[in-house]
Amino acid sequence: MTLSRRSFLKLAGASAALGALTGCAMEPRGAGGHVVVVGGGFGGAAAAKYIRRLDPSIKVTLIDANLSNYYTCPFSNLVLGGQMEMKDLKVSFDALRDKHGVQLIEDHVDGIDADKRTVKLKSGKTLGYDKLVLSPGIELSYEKIAGYSKDVAEKLPHAWKAGAQTTLLRKQLEAMKDGGTFVMVAPPNPYRCPPGPYERAAVVADYLKKHKPKSKIIILDPKDKFSKQGLFMEAWETLYPGMIDWVGPDRGGVVTAVDAGSMTVTTKDGDKIKADVINVIPPMQAGKIVTASGLADDKGWAPVNQRTFESSKAKNVYVIGDSCIAGPVPKSGYGANSEAKIAAASIVNALNGAEPGDPKFVNTCYSYVSAQDAISVAGVYELDAENKIIEVKGSGGVSAKEGKNWKAEAIFAKGWYEGIRQDTWG
Ligand code: FAD
Repeated sequence: MTLSRRSFLKLAGASAALGALTGCAMEPRGAGGHVVVVGGGFGGAAAAKYIRRLDPSIKVTLIDANLSNYYTCPFSNLVLGGQMEMKDLKVSFDALRDKHGVQLIEDHVDGIDADKRTVKLKSGKTLGYDKLVLSPGIELSYEKIAGYSKDVAEKLPHAWKAGAQTTLLRKQLEAMKDGGTFVMVAPPNPYRCPPGPYERAAVVADYLKKHKPKSKIIILDPKDKFSKQGLFMEAWETLYPGMIDWVGPDRGGVVTAVDAGSMTVTTKDGDKIKADVINVIPPMQAGKIVTASGLADDKGWAPVNQRTFESSKAKNVYVIGDSCIAGPVPKSGYGANSEAKIAAASIVNALNGAEPGDPKFVNTCYSYVSAQDAISVAGVYELDAENKIIEVKGSGGVSAKEGKNWKAEAIFAKGWYEGIRQDTWG
């Protein structure tokens, strides 16, 4: 993609004016402008890569607090089940830098000034931008469950951000006695990875069935239904009869408090359930940088123009991935990657003086129900006349019942994982 001299001068002039206005030391910018991306996960990394691919004249700087230790959440449940190791989930950012020319900075973004178009880093540096992409994932609302906190999570892990928490929960499962009880506190909607808790229950059951067959799993759930429910329940009953008890709100599944000392969970009805391992997946909201910058609504998620993913609250700031409100698109790695491509295209168009396109995109979520069996849900999306994302009528759906394709879907799931890693970071 090339820029006309006129639009090039327009952009260059705007950038010079911005530098003078902010008075900050501006980084050298690309001829096509400078895009700063916060977050190197599924959304941020894909956005950085695709902006560079669509227009190499644009300088892209990707900032992540955790560049040296990013582990994918997808497939992290398999670490709990013992089928994978943490090292299999680790991502390298080398190709983004060496192949795609993305500038990498390992730092925490402490603040955004959308008027001055700058981001402030923990190290003290200030960076200017023409366009800013935020893909910071989620923030866990520990305080919404009495007795739970970041510190208590060291004993009652959430394992909802892959890394040390995943290893901790795996160790607890290994240490649990045969005949022990594993209690999972499931989150309310909306949350990262709708089928994730139920996949987790299945792969943990697979491990327990092989190594501690007298054990039980109780899922305490504030929701009265969940993603792929029919398929999950069928798989649980077929593969692990009697082992998994899903307790919805009508049976007292709403948890109000946890106590790490006595290893108990208290429900809204006042029941106390004792457990050997407690996995608390608390309510969540958009990443802190989004809420702290005033880009979220009163429920804690970022409203965006669903054609471009530009924030409804700040110009030139794009919010993608788990943090944004993308209509019916689930908060998934695949969704974040798709949204990243839409945002990348609209940013490149905007920087080149062109109109945004008319996006159509997909999401598929695979879930393992044992080490070698999986199920899936898929959706195809487009915009309606009011620029809202809707599911294309008659598209998508869930896997066949009665385990017809479980083995094949497990192979597809592996292929999906390798493919999306390559597409995002490769
Ligand atoms: P993330 O991938 O979390 O990336 C956010 C990044 O931003 C992080 O690296 C963080 O360090 C960085 N960051 C945040 N704030 C700042 C800041 N202020 N400064 C600097 N850096 C910052 N999805 C699927 O599609 N398929 C699956 O099979 C699947 N399985 C899952 C299983 C589990 C158990 C879980 C928990 C999730 C699963 N997901 C799956 C969901 C998927 O992990 C998320 O939807 C995806 O990671 C969202 O991408 P993101 O870019 O929004 O956030």
